[in-house]
Amino acid sequence: MGKEEKRPPEGEREETAFYDWRKKIDEQVKRDLKDYFQDRDYVVMAVPKEEPLRVWAVKATNTARTAQRVHRLSPMAAAVMGRAIVGAILLSSLIKHGTDQKVGLKIEGDGPIGYVYVEVDGKGRVRGLVKNPDVPLFTKEVNGKTKLDIARAIGNGTLTVIKDLGMGKPYVGVVPLVSGEIAEDIAYYLAQSEQIPSAVGIGVKLDEKGEVKVAGGWMVQEMGGTSEKALQVIEDAVKKLPPVSDLLEQGKRPEDIALMIIPEELNPHLLGLKEIEYYCPCDEKIVEGVVAGLPQEEVDKIFEENQFLEVTCHFCGKVYRYTREQVEEIRSRAREEEKPSDRKEEGDKENS
Ligand SMILES: [Zn+2]
Repeated sequence: MGKEEKRPPEGEREETAFYDWRKKIDEQVKRDLKDYFQDRDYVVMAVPKEEPLRVWAVKATNTARTAQRVHRLSPMAAAVMGRAIVGAILLSSLIKHGTDQKVGLKIEGDGPIGYVYVEVDGKGRVRGLVKNPDVPLFTKEVNGKTKLDIARAIGNGTLTVIKDLGMGKPYVGVVPLVSGEIAEDIAYYLAQSEQIPSAVGIGVKLDEKGEVKVAGGWMVQEMGGTSEKALQVIEDAVKKLPPVSDLLEQGKRPEDIALMIIPEELNPHLLGLKEIEYYCPCDEKIVEGVVAGLPQEEVDKIFEENQFLEVTCHFCGKVYRYTREQVEEIRSRAREEEKPSDRKEEGDKENS
């Protein structure tokens, strides 16, 4: 725009006009995408054109806020859970995009929070839970600044990664916590258990009310054979990178952060984007399976003392409530279904 261009010869004008129109649409699409993703959580992957190295950057502010609301988390618990959420999203790079494969991250220690568990599937759906949601605030002084003491809340313990690739037994990897600050622990896990040299940064900032203000992170993975020169460039870029929570607070987006890690000279390309949300796939069918599997004595005991049998989902807090009649029906239906295929169609009553 504004730049005088040589007028194309007569015969080419139409094509030029067509090209400009397309460019305009392109810009519009980009703006629309930007608007659409402005307040959403997502993860991007970027690569340097010529080097076997991958970079992910994620914004998970809304997801961490939803987790805080669903579980009524104290500020400290929200900060730990927020970090675990970002960590689990970064670890979802180990499963197939767009599938129901799942990766679970469990951080368990002898600190007052007990444990935090988060799982993410290939579609970017996140859910989690924490043992002690009321854990009090711990802070520490770092270079004259007050910071949350995540390691104190967690204590000494282990980091477990459960990869469910939908092929039977899930793959489980356990490493000791090396820092308890989660980012470094995830980098340690990737190096030890997956043999992937990695660097990880995670940040969660709380506002003055103790609610999640921003949550996000980034990860670099070296897939083997990256040139010394490129490694040096990336290392320098990572060293210069401000804390991710500062970047998000300034309005930086995952793609901006990824492109700060892979500088222009390495010819960065954005390869993909996945939306992230807190979503629990629990439903009547799953809960009825639980109800059907309860021992009879337990069911009898519940109805001696209560009018309803209630099942609460630990991941989303949803309460499923059944009367004695409903429970009996669920259980007898389950017994029917367990029988081999000699059951009669006419006897089946389908509830809708
Ligand atoms: Zn649920």
